[in-house]
Amino acid sequence: MSALPTPENFDGRTQKALADARLKIAIDRTAGTARAKRAAIVGQWPDFTLARERGREIKDHVVENLDHYLAEFERNAVASGAVVHWAETADEACRIVVDICRRAGARSVTRSKSMLGEEIGLPHALEEAGIERVETDLAEHIVQLAGERPSHIIWPAMHKTREEISDLFRRHHAEPHREETAEAMAASARRHLRERFLRADVGISGANFLVADTGSVCTVTNEGNAEMTTTPPRIHIATAGIEKLVPTAAHAAMMLRLLVRSATGAALTQYTTFHTGPRRAGDLDGPDEFHIVLVDNGRSRMLADREMRPMLRCIRCGACMNHCPVFNQIGGHAYGGTYPGPMGAVLTPALDGLSMQTRDLAHACTLNGRCREVCPVDIPLPTLLKGWRTRSWREGLEPKTMRRGLSLWRWAGTHPRLYRLGAAVAARALRLAARGRGRLGRLPFLADAWTRYRDLPAPPPGPTFLEREAQRLREGTRS
Ligand code: SF4
Repeated sequence: MSALPTPENFDGRTQKALADARLKIAIDRTAGTARAKRAAIVGQWPDFTLARERGREIKDHVVENLDHYLAEFERNAVASGAVVHWAETADEACRIVVDICRRAGARSVTRSKSMLGEEIGLPHALEEAGIERVETDLAEHIVQLAGERPSHIIWPAMHKTREEISDLFRRHHAEPHREETAEAMAASARRHLRERFLRADVGISGANFLVADTGSVCTVTNEGNAEMTTTPPRIHIATAGIEKLVPTAAHAAMMLRLLVRSATGAALTQYTTFHTGPRRAGDLDGPDEFHIVLVDNGRSRMLADREMRPMLRCIRCGACMNHCPVFNQIGGHAYGGTYPGPMGAVLTPALDGLSMQTRDLAHACTLNGRCREVCPVDIPLPTLLKGWRTRSWREGLEPKTMRRGLSLWRWAGTHPRLYRLGAAVAARALRLAARGRGRLGRLPFLADAWTRYRDLPAPPPGPTFLEREAQRLREGTRS
């Protein structure tokens, strides 16, 4: 028997999300704008297809030669004065970061947005260590005040309406905004965060790219919060997945064009910084210590898995989720993991393992293919999702009812006469049940899962498709 839907499983989370009208408004506002802006800027880029192909080639080349580029990156980062740490697991990565903070006697750390940080559970690890964590990305700040998790990899607070944010700021900021404008609310957050930027002992950032031939860490933000996180504190820690490498700064520039256009529909982000080593003699600012934590956490496993390996190309632009009809209905929290949407549905089982908890994600897909069309590195997301479905079936993770139902259907499909008879009876029974309304509101038993949220059109009057096809063949009118 399958588990009852609860907020802890995918069904329960999805039902909760679908019942939330405010969530739908918030998603439509942000994702709709993102889609329109991306379409406009890609439309003005005649070489987009070529750039996408180059982007895919660069990422594939790096992934195929990961050992070489990791060694080169480490050599150059160390030569520039950085300390490079290697973490095989999420726990190890958190331990390394917390140890550096403890050695520095840090009581407060600032953090700029990093999905890897969420993936490894860094916010929780810092809290457990008694270290104050200040999220400096505006959306992450909102999510932290609300005690929630990000719901989108680019817009972590996309599930919040302006009214909800205004209310949060009024409750948590010492000098909140007086006017209900976006500018006034941003100023309220700036007043709240500025003093915290200056008193932080350690700044923790993610990395958009790691540049192998210079040992640099590249970050991009629109708010400048990464620079405020990495420059004033005495210590800067950058955490990065090992797949973030590009061979040179020129390759990083090519990937940045794809990333920014796909993510926000802009030509450039406001701030793009290459962090190379700590502060040198004569530098006006910068950290005294620069630590780079290179995190595996399942990526080597993905590298060894030929079928899922293309997912290592992902540059975390979020375009696939903005264009996904399922994500646009249920939002990011319903996916239950760090990474939502189509990329999350592929990545979560790859990182956490395929299980009863993660198998549902691959099924939350209509296989319409929009995600692949907009992916700037051409990841075949629908194919990978089908791959997880196949594995889930082989490993016996599908509910017994589904297995039995499909087995019955397969059996009927190998008995054409019976299949035709069954289809004709079912069509007539559904037509009768519709009672001339043209649609069916609720179906009984397990079929209710389908009609709970949607109408089922009644079969049209007249012969069924199979009957028409048989008739056509009989009359020899193949066109
Ligand atoms: S899968 Fe493609 S579209 Fe989705 S986040 Fe990754 S790079 Fe962007």
